[in-house]
Amino acid sequence: MRLALLLPLFLFTQMILFAQNICRTTEYRQQLLLNHPELASKIAAVETFTKNFQKGNGYTTLGFNPASDGSGIITIPVVVHILYNSAQQNITDAQVQSQIDILNQDYRRLNADTVNTPLVFHDAAADCGFQFRLAKVDPNGYATTGIIHKKTNIQSFGVEDAIKFSAQGGDDGWDKDSYLNIWVGSLNGAILGYSSVVGGPKENDGVVVLYTAFGTGGTSVAPYNKGRTTTHEIGHWLNLIHTWGDADCGDDQVADTPPQQTSDMGCPSGTIISCTNSPLGNMYQNYMDFTNDACMNLFTNGQKSRMLALFQPGGERYAILSSTALTATPLQNPVSEPIITSISIYPNPSVDNITIQLSDDIAIGSQLEIYNGFGQKTATIIVKQSQFQMNISSFGKGVYFIKAINGNSKTMAKLVKL
Ligand SMILES: [Zn+2]
Repeated sequence: MRLALLLPLFLFTQMILFAQNICRTTEYRQQLLLNHPELASKIAAVETFTKNFQKGNGYTTLGFNPASDGSGIITIPVVVHILYNSAQQNITDAQVQSQIDILNQDYRRLNADTVNTPLVFHDAAADCGFQFRLAKVDPNGYATTGIIHKKTNIQSFGVEDAIKFSAQGGDDGWDKDSYLNIWVGSLNGAILGYSSVVGGPKENDGVVVLYTAFGTGGTSVAPYNKGRTTTHEIGHWLNLIHTWGDADCGDDQVADTPPQQTSDMGCPSGTIISCTNSPLGNMYQNYMDFTNDACMNLFTNGQKSRMLALFQPGGERYAILSSTALTATPLQNPVSEPIITSISIYPNPSVDNITIQLSDDIAIGSQLEIYNGFGQKTATIIVKQSQFQMNISSFGKGVYFIKAINGNSKTMAKLVKL
């Protein structure tokens, strides 16, 4: 008898422990509120704002159309910060693009596996109307690929957000009012990812994803190799709650997702009844559940309305609608400026190692001086070879000038440290 009572509890506990390893957004939120209780009222205000929007001021009743071009599609500029400790973790730009492509399918319901959405959920399934584009212009106005590759000495990051700060071995986020920041790297334990909290600190805003659960191909590993971890975490970034409401038969504040007791794992089949959700059963195909990438395929209209509330005037993400990260004309990129006469630097811009190539008129034994953007000399180098490598990872971000002191003070090159 005692065993019979204990066993279900044991199984339940195991399930929770395992579940916590998938997405740490709930724990991150709890920790944030413990450390910053003053944020509770702001986060509650976001919820009230969202509820008011859902109650009757929604896009369906007012024809609310947040897109500036009238298409009804909201475009989100994205910057991906790749933090790598080993060369293997330095994922390719192609893998980043594969993730962007997946987001553009999942948030427009253009994913091929919509055919796996059960008939009973077809009416609830939504084209959420979001599209994602890698940023074209960085916060300083220069051209960018929207992808930053940065070496770090940190072997793996936790949910304390070090990955979001250069001073802690990560990379500083770009302004949340213009960009969605995605950090990709090695994470502690079995964490696949987590999102910041809507209404939380500006500097921490964005999502963090494990490099083996990001995009398709490359370093991605089954069963998290179809980019759905990022789809899920961006769902949180857009204010969605797990389908079980983070409690036993909890409330995810969405009417068209059936209540469910807890997370679903793996790749279930058939109807799973819990919390008197018969005959529909758990919507384990929802991106906000914990099932395998290959087994999830929808957001709902209710979830869409929660997301869209953020983009109303006064909403937490309203400002990003005015981002110029995709549309501004970039300042002339320093790398293409013809001021370089005898000093070549590559790669440029750079994060860590650069190669400096000097032309013959710069003598061996002469000096190079490095100045920061304020004209302050930050280093002097004695030229020993016409081509050499230099590590600039200790430099602060910004523009530097490398000047040859060779009787020709005009020989100068511009270097951009990212
Ligand atoms: Zn989650």
